[in-house]
Amino acid sequence: MNALLLTDIQNDFCPGGALAVAEGDRVVAPANRLAAVWELVVATQDWHPANHGSFAANHPGHRPGEIVDLDGIDQILWPVHCVQDSPGAAFHPGLDLGPVAAVFHKGTDPLVDSYSAFFDNGHRRATGLGDYLRDRRVRKLAICGLATDYCVKYTALDALALGFAVTLVTDACRGVDLRPEDSAQALAELAAKGARLATSAELLARP
Ligand SMILES: [Zn+2]
Repeated sequence: MNALLLTDIQNDFCPGGALAVAEGDRVVAPANRLAAVWELVVATQDWHPANHGSFAANHPGHRPGEIVDLDGIDQILWPVHCVQDSPGAAFHPGLDLGPVAAVFHKGTDPLVDSYSAFFDNGHRRATGLGDYLRDRRVRKLAICGLATDYCVKYTALDALALGFAVTLVTDACRGVDLRPEDSAQALAELAAKGARLATSAELLARP
């Protein structure tokens, strides 16, 4: 089985959102083209309670971009984003949800962030995505979405570690790029660990 993972294609990560990624909305069209023909499509949502420890607003005296200790793990502080059931946490309105067989939520525990769609940042708890894919005999996993240098990167690293054959869909990802080179470095690291990098057109031609 060949699966496609739509990572966090949510309003808050798109232009106009609370944690907007430049051109974040540009991933929607290629993601839709792939999803329309893929065997299995699953999606994730960053899905935080309002008291989440990744929000700078919940650490008086600290600002977004600073790093704090959150329950023993270094945590970059972000603006308030993707609060459960808020408009910002909703999928981008252009994303076609028809083909999506299942949605996995991440970042629900206020004490730990979850960049990966498989595990929280402490690898303490699984989201259920790994078992879901294994139960459906998924071998190949194409990953797209937001953001290249955080949730897409850590999702892909965990997918590789779990034994999936991973393809990063380069034109269907965009990065935060706190440092301008972050996304390029993320893709290079994933390629070095065995991920295939392909455009959506290349992937459609050779899944
Ligand atoms: Zn988040």
